[in-house]
Amino acid sequence: MHIPPDLMVSVSGVRGRVGDGLTPEVVARFAAAFGAYLRETTGEARPLVVLGRDSRPTGPMLLQAVKAGLQSVGCDVIDAGLIPTPTTLFAIRHHRAAGGIVVTASHNPVEWNALKFASRVGMFLDAEEAPAMRAFVADREIRRARWHELGTVTVDAHAVDRHLAAVLRIPYLDLDGLRKRRFRVVLDCVRGAGGVILPRLLEALGCDVVGLNLEPDGRFPRAPEPVAENLGELETAVRAAGADVGFATDPDADRLSLVSDAGRAIGEDFTLALAAQLVLQHRPGPVVTNLSTSRVLEDVANAAGVALLRAPVGEINVARAMERAGAVIGGEGNGGVILPDVHLTRDAAVAVALVLQLLLERARPLSALVAEHTPYTIVKDKLPRDAGSLEDAYATLERELGAPLSDRQDGLRLDWPEERRWLHLRASGTEPILRIIAEAPSPEAARELVERARQALGAAPSA
Ligand code: MG
Repeated sequence: MHIPPDLMVSVSGVRGRVGDGLTPEVVARFAAAFGAYLRETTGEARPLVVLGRDSRPTGPMLLQAVKAGLQSVGCDVIDAGLIPTPTTLFAIRHHRAAGGIVVTASHNPVEWNALKFASRVGMFLDAEEAPAMRAFVADREIRRARWHELGTVTVDAHAVDRHLAAVLRIPYLDLDGLRKRRFRVVLDCVRGAGGVILPRLLEALGCDVVGLNLEPDGRFPRAPEPVAENLGELETAVRAAGADVGFATDPDADRLSLVSDAGRAIGEDFTLALAAQLVLQHRPGPVVTNLSTSRVLEDVANAAGVALLRAPVGEINVARAMERAGAVIGGEGNGGVILPDVHLTRDAAVAVALVLQLLLERARPLSALVAEHTPYTIVKDKLPRDAGSLEDAYATLERELGAPLSDRQDGLRLDWPEERRWLHLRASGTEPILRIIAEAPSPEAARELVERARQALGAAPSA
C-alpha cells in the first residue's frame, strides 16, 4: 500500500491527522496487516485481538475500521471500548490474546489519532518485531477470509474492573491506612480515558475527590500533555480545595503529573522519582529509565543504594530493559511509571496509588517531600544537522567536552556525575536536526553545557 506522506509510521504504531493522512482505509489496512502478522507469527488460524480506545471523538469511527480489518483476515476481536491504554494492555494478558491494538494519539492534540500495536505479553511491538508486521502493510500479500471465516466481535465490559483490582493488589499499599487518612485530592483527566478508572481508584483508596474534566468525551479543555505549563486550572483548584495533591493525566492515562499542596505543578520528572522512593523503601532493586530522564531519579536510586540503569528513549526500550534487569520499578521522566507487580507498561493509575502511599508513609506534605531533593534545571535545544556523519559529531563532542562517562546506546549521552550534570544528543527521526537536552543543578550550568556542545560542533551560539 502507498503510505500517505503525512502519516507517521513508528516502531509500535502509526499516527496522523484524521482526514488528512489517517483515514478508515489506511487504518483498516494496518489492522489487517497486524492480523496477518499475528497469524504468521503465532501459527494460529484465528488469533484473538483486544481493542481499546481513548476518548477522542474520532475513536469510534477508527475503531470500526480496525475491527473490519481484523475480521477480514479471520481474527476474533474483543472490544473493550473506551479505556486507558494500560487497561487495554492489561486486558490482552487476561484474555490470553495474541495481541492488541490501542486507538489513541496519547498527548497529541485532538485532530490526531493513532494505532498502537501490542504483542501477547501486553507490551508494544519492539524494533525486532515491527518490521515483519510492516512488511504486510507495505507489499506482502494479505490473505483475506472468506464469508464463513470472518472473525467475530465480542464486547468486554469489565476491563476496567480487573485493572483496578490489580492496582489495588500492589503489595506496597496499606489500603486500611490510606482509607483512614482520607487524602483530599483534585483530579484532572483532561476529558480523556483516565475518567473511567481514576475516580474509582481514588474512591477505593478513601480519598475525598474534587474532579476536573472527568467526562471522557475527548473535548480537551487544555493542551493535553500534562506538563507544568498546562496545569494552571489544576493548580488553582488545588489551592481552592486546600488539597494534599493534584493529579493530572494525558488523554490515554499512561502518564501522570503532580501538583503539590502548595498549588504548584512540580514537574513530571518527580512522578517517577517519588514512586521509586516508595517502592525502594519496601523492595530495594534495580531501577530503569531512559537516557533523557532527570537525575532526580538517580539521586533516589543512590540514596537507596541500588543501580539506576538507562535505556534508549521509547517506552518499549525501558520495559524490555526492566525485564532483563529484573527491575523493581522503572519508567520515564515524562510521568510514565512502570511497576512490574502490575505490568510492564506505563500506568497513571499505578502512579497515583504509589504516590498516595508515599504521602501516607512519610506523613509530610508533598511540597516538603519535593524540597528534600536537589532542584535541577533541564534545558532543551536543537542544532541543524549538517552533511557530516553523526559518528564524527559524537566523536568530536566526546573529545572536546571530556566527560568522565559516555553512553552511545541512543545518540550520545555525556555524564559528569560529580558535578551532577549530563548532556544527551539524538538525531531527530523526522527533521534534519540534532536534539540536545542538558541537565544541571542550575539553569546557568545547564545552559553552559548546551553552549559548549554548540561550540564544539561549530554552531552559532543560541539566541
Ligand atoms: Mg499517553
